[in-house]
Amino acid sequence: MSSPAVAQRLAPFGTSIFAEMTRLAQAHQAINLAQGFPDFDGPDFIKRAAIRAIEAGHAQYARSFGVPALNTAIARFYERDAGLMFDPDTEITVTCGCTEAIAAAMLGLLNPGDEVVLFEPFYDSYPACIAMAGALPRFVRLHPRDGAFAFDEANLRAAFTARTRAVLVNTPHNPTGKVFSERELTLIADLALRHDAFVISDEVYEHLVYELEQPHLRLAALPGMRDRTLTLSSLGKTFSLTGWKVGWALGAPALTRAVRAAHQFLTFAGATPLQHAAAEALEHAEDAIPDLVAQFRERRDFLGDVLTSLRFNVFTPAGTYFILADFSRLSAESDVAFCQRLTREVGVAAIPPSAFYHNASGGHSLVRFAFCKQRATLEAAARRLQALRGA
Ligand code: GLN
Repeated sequence: MSSPAVAQRLAPFGTSIFAEMTRLAQAHQAINLAQGFPDFDGPDFIKRAAIRAIEAGHAQYARSFGVPALNTAIARFYERDAGLMFDPDTEITVTCGCTEAIAAAMLGLLNPGDEVVLFEPFYDSYPACIAMAGALPRFVRLHPRDGAFAFDEANLRAAFTARTRAVLVNTPHNPTGKVFSERELTLIADLALRHDAFVISDEVYEHLVYELEQPHLRLAALPGMRDRTLTLSSLGKTFSLTGWKVGWALGAPALTRAVRAAHQFLTFAGATPLQHAAAEALEHAEDAIPDLVAQFRERRDFLGDVLTSLRFNVFTPAGTYFILADFSRLSAESDVAFCQRLTREVGVAAIPPSAFYHNASGGHSLVRFAFCKQRATLEAAARRLQALRGA
């Protein structure tokens, strides 16, 4: 129940499910496979870079849109990695994690009454930020199909109206693990062009992809899309540093001006020493990423096999560090009741995905597990989950 002091536009959203499940996990000493954060440290070379930056006295406000070294490192990284060119001064904004980039994009771009096309299930901050901007979401469902998730083309077409200002895409997608295909992204791009809409593309899991035949593709790289796409990402997922809250927004100068119009009044700037360290991280990203991806792929397969053996119906993720699974062969409970019992009685916390749907029917019989954990943590969780056998 939210307090009557909370403004009307935020009251419907209550407390974030991530905070709620982490609190419940702590209260019951459950292994936390709910909120998505690694239980191991990011690379040592990045930690040492942060310590050096603090010792060097980088202690005052950063330039609002990012310390120059980081903007340059981001530009170089996207050029090397994706062949995309962004000008460090006019097309890159450093934010406090991607969550702030999402808020700044919505608040900077949307007018009251504008509509935003949103795929459902969605990351929980999207509708809240759309509401803070006074705009309205138009939902497009991703349905389970052949072991993965897909949308109906007709639903997507119908979601675009004369009031559509933007379409929000998240690929690789949390919580389904879907990596949008070229065909799907091309359709989204065609509709955005036809309706003169912007695309906001949240790509925080861009490097966490596991299938050669399903690579991460970027909307900004599709024909005609560079200047109408804002690409958002962060350091947190790629380098296992979620608590550093270093994120960024990349886009043409007009879109960047909109993001900065909001960003300057939201946080003004991110933490200065961490931005210096982030610059070093990106300069050496190629050394760190392949090992992490190999480890996560192995852990995805381990946890997926455990869940399958317990009669969950697992949607093997092509990307992200989440597994979505259907538990209807184990229990008729709601997703919320199932996750609470799992946390309290089995000692493993997970996320009930109804938090990612706009009405209560969504996410029924689904559960989301995070596998961005040490192998020993997942093995301990697997032992506890055996309590579900024969349930
Ligand atoms: N992105 C993380 C997840 O999906 C959570 C981030 C948060 O706690 N706000 O688990």
